[in-house]
Amino acid sequence: MATTKEIKPRKVLDRIKPYSPGKPIWELQKELGLEKVIKLASNENPLGPSPKGVQAISAGLAELNRYPDADTAALKVAIAEKIDMKKEQIIVTNGADELITLMSEAFLEEGDEIVVPYPSFSEYDFGADLMGATVVQVPFDEGFQFNVDKMINAITDKTKLLYICSPNNPTGTYLAKSDFEALLDAVPERVLVVFDGAYSHYATADDYTNGMDYIKAGKNVLVLQTFSKVYGLAGLRVGFGVAPESIIQTILKVKEPFNVNSLAQAAAKAAISDDEHVEASIESNEAGAKELYQAFTDLGLDYVETTSNFILLQLGPDAEKLYHDLLSKGVIVRYGKIWGLPEYVRVTIGTKEENEFFINVLKEVLNK
Ligand SMILES: *Cc1c(COP(=O)(O)O)cnc(C)c1O
Repeated sequence: MATTKEIKPRKVLDRIKPYSPGKPIWELQKELGLEKVIKLASNENPLGPSPKGVQAISAGLAELNRYPDADTAALKVAIAEKIDMKKEQIIVTNGADELITLMSEAFLEEGDEIVVPYPSFSEYDFGADLMGATVVQVPFDEGFQFNVDKMINAITDKTKLLYICSPNNPTGTYLAKSDFEALLDAVPERVLVVFDGAYSHYATADDYTNGMDYIKAGKNVLVLQTFSKVYGLAGLRVGFGVAPESIIQTILKVKEPFNVNSLAQAAAKAAISDDEHVEASIESNEAGAKELYQAFTDLGLDYVETTSNFILLQLGPDAEKLYHDLLSKGVIVRYGKIWGLPEYVRVTIGTKEENEFFINVLKEVLNK
């Protein structure tokens, strides 16, 4: 028998921890024999996929013998029209996750640094770790508010990418427009500012920006968007980036030709103009947030006010036990320990019915 011990992985892989997704519904059902399980753990759209997107998939099935369009041309044109950009300023990827990896491959050398708010989306760290770059974490202020001065101070000669996730996952807080402008004014030209707008559709505050205007103004900004959240197409894996043309050209060099499958391209193209579904999703989310806030207040629980489709809920020192109790009764949320928040869980806002089920189970596990 040969041994695999002599086959050495790259050194940087020692640092990489596997991504921990929310438990799937079927798994919990199988484990505990539960009839009803609800998943409020991955910020998916509880109303389901865009109906226009689903229709487009049916139409595309007969062409599955063909390779997808490597250039995603039709989808890029649809996106470009929607956001008023040139199609050359857009790259379409296998979920926004792939784009984070591609950017890391395109820009990060070993020893380079990225600046990220903490806690935020773990894929930024993954991309840096993969390339042997260093992650410089900048903690949030009180109430999980962004501190742009601290972020600016964290920039060194080695910084290549600076990430802003707004609304931020997992806190639900956002970066005010004036703060983003202050940041852009202070960042050296050699740093690419990545603005992750995965939840931008949910953010309605007057002083919110989705970052797009700054690309139009010629700043070194890349905006990341996804079809996984408000459009309800997480299972298809499609997202996109918007940036100055030369940045897109560079990232295209590391992209595999057929990274986005043909059904995903067709569905995303239809979904981006499905305003009815987007509006219904936002409305349902706002109503759900209000219901949950009220219930948390009635239960005497603290939470972080959200501008997104999830709420960071403080359960206190017993949070881990309560998280498991919720699981055992068929409610999947995300436990905050992975973000250094052991007293919190992150709850995706569900349908009215899901929110009520969650609240009832929460009362049970709290003995209230
Ligand atoms: C969900 C999410 C994404 C995108 O995920 P994909 O499904 O890969 O498109 C990007 N950033 C944040 C912060 C997210 O929460």
